[in-house]
Amino acid sequence: MQFKDIVGQRDTINRLTSIIDSGRVSHAQMLLGEAATAMPLVWAYLQYLCCENRQHHDHGDLRADSCDDCPSCKKIASLMHPDLHFIFPTATTSKVKEKPWSGEFQGEFRDFMLQTQGSGNIDDWYETLGIENKQGLIRELDADGVVSDLSLKAYEGGWRMMVIWMAEKMNESFANKLLKTLEEPLPGTLIMLVSESDERMLSTIKSRVQTLRVESGTRKEENNAEFAEMLVGWLRMLFKLKMKELSAQVDKMASLNREQLKLFLQYALKVMRDCFLNSAAGVECHLGSGDEKFDAQFPRMITVNNIELMEEALNDAIFAVERNAYAKIAMMELSFRMSKALKKR
Ligand SMILES: [Zn+2]
Repeated sequence: MQFKDIVGQRDTINRLTSIIDSGRVSHAQMLLGEAATAMPLVWAYLQYLCCENRQHHDHGDLRADSCDDCPSCKKIASLMHPDLHFIFPTATTSKVKEKPWSGEFQGEFRDFMLQTQGSGNIDDWYETLGIENKQGLIRELDADGVVSDLSLKAYEGGWRMMVIWMAEKMNESFANKLLKTLEEPLPGTLIMLVSESDERMLSTIKSRVQTLRVESGTRKEENNAEFAEMLVGWLRMLFKLKMKELSAQVDKMASLNREQLKLFLQYALKVMRDCFLNSAAGVECHLGSGDEKFDAQFPRMITVNNIELMEEALNDAIFAVERNAYAKIAMMELSFRMSKALKKR
């Protein structure tokens, strides 16, 4: 993960790279804000910290970034660095029937992080574990893991790094053990906390970590106005299916970065569902296209005969985008499937 892959956050990123360049890296830091925003920052931060060939720029909006090419960068990018450890909320699952802790789920967590590029939230994680109905926790067993992982000699001779994801889910016994580690830090160790809740963090912990608040990347409302326009433009093309025009529209969608494209597809999914539910209930659905005729007609095209096909096509596209598929091809395929589904009303 490089900083350049992150949407916005330029001021925060420039502060983070300055901290590392100044050599004053605090042994315990907390990024407070939505995990979907904070975790990619932590990931890129650790990659920059370990990078053997940091890149400094004198123009552009980023003052520095990791090289993404040295052995350290590659290990952090793939989350295969032997000195990088993760603690996160867990619960009993069909696989781990008792005494759950992060150590039992390292592989699953790494895959989850790689698939979502750090932008998955707690519900996504619980879904991955198949524990949607349980509350995950970070427990005493996890604390023993922290102590043993951090007291090992660094394999790579550099930093030993521990990321505590969703730190507000730690229980009291974990917090007490963590406090001891924070009070007597081992040299060369770095603990990064990602927390979504200031209130739920113990003040004793907060007083021992350097906290940086992160605001979510883009405002939802701004997104929605932009997305609404893009969605309507695209839907019109799906009726006409003129290749040249459709291709231009697909280019526009594919030019969004991965995170934004995923948000757009989720937005499209929500609009389709709303249209279907509203027209089934005889309520008008406003697409806000600025074209009354289109607004009135389109929702009626979404019926019990095609809503599932559309949902399936959109979900497959979201999955493809998460998996780093080539966006243009994924959007073109989605367009054909949606167009076909629309004709099945
Ligand atoms: Zn590097």
